[in-house]
Amino acid sequence: MSGPGSFKNQTMSKTGNRAAILECISTAGKIARVDIAKVTGINPATVTAMTSDLLEEGIVEALPDEEKQNTKRGRPQVKLCLNSKAFILAGAKISEDAITVAIIDFAGNQISEYVREGNSFSISKEQLAENLKEAISAAIANTDFYLSDISALGVGVPGYVDIASECVHWSPAISDTPTNFVKTLRSVFDFPVMLDNDVNLATLAEQRFGLGKGVSDFLVVTIEHGVGMGIVLNNNLFRGTRGLGGEFGHTKVQLNGALCRCGQRGCLEAYVADYALLREADTAFKFKTSHDLPTGQRLAALYQEAKSGNQAALSIFERAGRMLGMGLANLVNIFDPSLIIFSGERMQYDFLYEKDVLEELRKNTLDIDRPPPEVRVHKWGDLLWAKGAAAWATEYVIHQVVAKTNAC
Ligand SMILES: [Zn+2]
Repeated sequence: MSGPGSFKNQTMSKTGNRAAILECISTAGKIARVDIAKVTGINPATVTAMTSDLLEEGIVEALPDEEKQNTKRGRPQVKLCLNSKAFILAGAKISEDAITVAIIDFAGNQISEYVREGNSFSISKEQLAENLKEAISAAIANTDFYLSDISALGVGVPGYVDIASECVHWSPAISDTPTNFVKTLRSVFDFPVMLDNDVNLATLAEQRFGLGKGVSDFLVVTIEHGVGMGIVLNNNLFRGTRGLGGEFGHTKVQLNGALCRCGQRGCLEAYVADYALLREADTAFKFKTSHDLPTGQRLAALYQEAKSGNQAALSIFERAGRMLGMGLANLVNIFDPSLIIFSGERMQYDFLYEKDVLEELRKNTLDIDRPPPEVRVHKWGDLLWAKGAAAWATEYVIHQVVAKTNAC
């Protein structure tokens, strides 16, 4: 059976030693040369030579290694990190009612954030690009920099995105799909733009800034308007061959089950996503919240009903939790990850990760004499998704640095 390494050619490509070294430094934050050699498998002499060039070019900088300051002989011990001043990157998450922007420096430090309220789903790609430009301009206006200082922009949209062909096959955010949305964005911005599925970028954010830091194999599960999943194998984000990897929400948990918004039946999302819970509530009992209210508010009201003892409301959440537990068990049986991270804003609904759900997971996974994967919950808002998008822009710049050097 093939291991995770065999997926490597289908993941974000690692073009050459220089890119591998920069990505290693970026992922670690701060790291000694000797450890770069260990992590990347690159010859220590090559690491020394290449990092000297990178230091000279101002791409990385050396910091004293606080843990090894007592060395009496030889060169002082240092750790390398990306030079924060080298580039300015932007990232944006497009959601149903807002566009959230993060501006970061090359070392990943946040410089500015901005939330442009009043976005709506299913608008034209041109309108969405204009909204995005407004949001990025407002975010950079809070800083000492100009729009022209931005080196690259990463954008996360919900839906099916193939990054190789730059095609958005379908997205609730854009009315005219399939489309090359990157082309539209390039006509609006003067710097390079990268587009990806928003959950992949949330996963990058977990890897760079969150609970996935330093973990080589983990899954991120998000439950929002849909159910998404990000997959990190052997330190690489796995996207699938058509950009459709990780559609956890459309894995089947029931033969001929509930109707999903994808048109098929029995998908996990048809039991767990916000629209599914509200649909159940509408049919099961007189759930008196206006359909004009935002989905989040209606869901919060339903959750409150369940908490205050409404048995019908409670049973909706309980069933969703059991379905989720079963779905998670399928993931564990396929990937055997060391960590599963529940990530996103909806994590306040604790039915998603309470004891019964985890018990359902354990019941349905193969039993060996090792504990099941750790399940951790990370409640965060759109800002960190936007930071993940900016991290994606950072990866682009890292590869551009390499490309420029190779051209010399
Ligand atoms: Zn489906």
